[in-house]
Amino acid sequence: MSEKLKLIIELVPSSSWNQNLRSLLKPQMWERLKKEVYKKYDYKCSICRAGGKLHAHEVWDYDNKKYVQKLADIIALCSKCHAVKHIGLAGIHASEGKISYENLIKHFMKVNNCDRDVFEKHQAEAFKKFEVRSHFEWQIDLTEYQNGLK
Ligand SMILES: [Zn+2]
Repeated sequence: MSEKLKLIIELVPSSSWNQNLRSLLKPQMWERLKKEVYKKYDYKCSICRAGGKLHAHEVWDYDNKKYVQKLADIIALCSKCHAVKHIGLAGIHASEGKISYENLIKHFMKVNNCDRDVFEKHQAEAFKKFEVRSHFEWQIDLTEYQNGLK
């Protein structure tokens, strides 16, 4: 089911939090990389094509046998698509009144052209996956982005 969705939830295992390229790169390298990514996507969200403020999102591949978490891509996302990707964090921000969780659900349904049922199921699957993955220590593989690492 998930394969058909344009916008999916990608929760990073809690055991890997803080192990991202952004925190490993020198700030100016990250800034440069971000600009390249935004340019590559013509300064639009790579999923819903919205303009405006963009975020650079790290896409990870998970090898569930070797427990290797590999950085596969970096894509440009609008604030809403990015918040959906990290919907666990978005939930915390929503509880603090910073964003509307309901608006994110609406965005998910609009981009994926689906109903709330599909969202609920997908969200439940994403959290289940997150819980399972969070039990393991993942080896972070940044091979393709090694240039510019500290
Ligand atoms: Zn978007």
